Amino acid sequence: MLQLSIQYKNRDDFCEQLRSVKEQFVCEGYKDILFHLYSGVFDESFLVQAANDIWERFGTENIIGTMSAGEIQEGRLIEKSLLVSVLMFKCTSITVHRLGSVIGNEQETGRTVCRIADSTDELKAVELMLPGTRMRTMVLFEEAGKCGRDIRFFGGYAGGHSMASDEHFVFDHRGFYSDMIFMVCYAGRDFHIDVDKSVGWQTLGAAFKVTSADENRLISIDGAPAADLYRKYMQIEADESFAEETFEFPLMAEKDGEELLRHTISVEDDGTLDLAGYVEEGMDIYLCYGVPTDIVQKVDVRLEEISTFKPEAVLLYSCSVRKAFWESFVDIEMLPFQQIAYTTGFHTWGEVGRDYASGNIYEYNITLLSIAMREGECPQGEPVSVRVDDSALKGQASLIKRLTKLVNATTTELQHAYTNLSMMNTKLQTIADQDGLTALYNRRKIEQIITKSYESDTASGLIMLDIDHFKNINDTYGHAAGDEALITTADVMRAAVRQVNGAAIGRWGGEEFMILLPNVNAVQCCAIAEQLRQDIESHSFADVGQITASLGCIMLEKEVPLSELFIRVDSAVYSAKKAGRNKVIQN
Ligand code: GH3
Ligand code: MG
Ligand code: MG
Repeated sequence: MLQLSIQYKNRDDFCEQLRSVKEQFVCEGYKDILFHLYSGVFDESFLVQAANDIWERFGTENIIGTMSAGEIQEGRLIEKSLLVSVLMFKCTSITVHRLGSVIGNEQETGRTVCRIADSTDELKAVELMLPGTRMRTMVLFEEAGKCGRDIRFFGGYAGGHSMASDEHFVFDHRGFYSDMIFMVCYAGRDFHIDVDKSVGWQTLGAAFKVTSADENRLISIDGAPAADLYRKYMQIEADESFAEETFEFPLMAEKDGEELLRHTISVEDDGTLDLAGYVEEGMDIYLCYGVPTDIVQKVDVRLEEISTFKPEAVLLYSCSVRKAFWESFVDIEMLPFQQIAYTTGFHTWGEVGRDYASGNIYEYNITLLSIAMREGECPQGEPVSVRVDDSALKGQASLIKRLTKLVNATTTELQHAYTNLSMMNTKLQTIADQDGLTALYNRRKIEQIITKSYESDTASGLIMLDIDHFKNINDTYGHAAGDEALITTADVMRAAVRQVNGAAIGRWGGEEFMILLPNVNAVQCCAIAEQLRQDIESHSFADVGQITASLGCIMLEKEVPLSELFIRVDSAVYSAKKAGRNKVIQN
């Protein structure tokens, strides 16, 4: 295959150049042809005329035009011109489908893309050229992405040169369209394509949450109007220069692990941001900044991939934000591609790509999409070794890199500090609720739990336990042995109620305990109390030997005031003592 390009100067020159292209096409035996028209000139009749000049000479429908934010010829930006890229193929079939009335029918259009893709023989790649920002492309791509996983997708969104441009049109020899998509099918056994994106922007600081969004409209972040984010962290007010001032700090959203950069086109009165790409509620979102050396590094990785692929033609669809970011340096990341193969393309208002693992198709912003094409097998021999020449950037770049590092390091430190603080809070809370000796709940906490259960609709049983003749234990074996006996008693109680969901045990007083048993009836409650009595009686306590306890059990009846119930359970214990201790009494 072969790529060449024509920069439109005047009509005579243009037609002359078309004549020589035609001659080459016929003489060298090419089978199919595709014309991309990238235009920074917004003049409908001129552009349709130019497309028509092509159509008259070639009689092909393979003519697709787009408004562009910058035309790329031989790896260089040539602004405000009409650039025609010509791709000639020896053994590849090119078909352009024109999908009209998309707005409002995005899902149906997506299905059509999928159907055409799956029914085209030997289809290797689909290019989508879209007019711009009003289509719900998220829905469209979701349907389109259901086609065969091995089909590559790439493309771009039309838009004019300035950040405030509303020139979102595609065109051909028949007219200008704001509601039509060009779908180009590249098919053939010997056609090979390698598409990938390079980004390189760095996230700054912590993640925020998208709390409200509608397709391209980012309404709120962390519950506040989206524009507040820029006011708070960047001191950028939501006025008419908002888009210009924020493009250096785009947002990065995450969807299924895919990093989607988004920049703002305009801001609404209520602080809603109109983005050049969709976002969804629940997405994590970061402020970003372009660090030149990092961006260059990402491009270098891609250059290495492409050079081993050994393409015959390269298309670059690069975001207009990259153009604005690099300013006069923009060529440095595009020129090296021309050293590998003839390179044309344009600066877009959004790039289309596909994640090969999931098959999902995405709209990207701020990426450099590089599309490498070849017919036939990869030729033998060493690949050319090319890198971005970034020598002009070094000084300025290192300052930005250091500041970005500072912000991110500080954020990480603060996040660690915050995590530690909340862990400490949890610990403090636990300590505040615990009895120091037995690590059971303390009286305040168990009383709270019992009250909550009493007020709820659960039927709960309550057991009170008092150790018998505990004073004697202290007197005979010493206070320390007494303490040890209390700790062991707590363990025996824990084991006894382990099976009961939601059971809670607290230390009520010196050697008195309360046990709450939710969702049990009176019979079950007494059975558990009786088992516990036996467990204590049969346990051999270190130093002190055998211990017994007296237990009272009641049901938390809602008709009786809680204070009354506490008296009731206490008097059950008293009755157990009177009945000779080591007993369970139900009240
Ligand atoms: P009864 O069978 O009637 O319950 O007799 P008792 O001796 O267990 O009851 P009494 O209320 O007269 O004594 C409770 C004793 O528990 C008195 C106190 O010294 C002891 N005690 C309270 N708290 C602790 C503690 O934290 N550690 C130790 N070792 N003893 C404690
Ligand atoms: Mg006692
Ligand atoms: Mg007591």
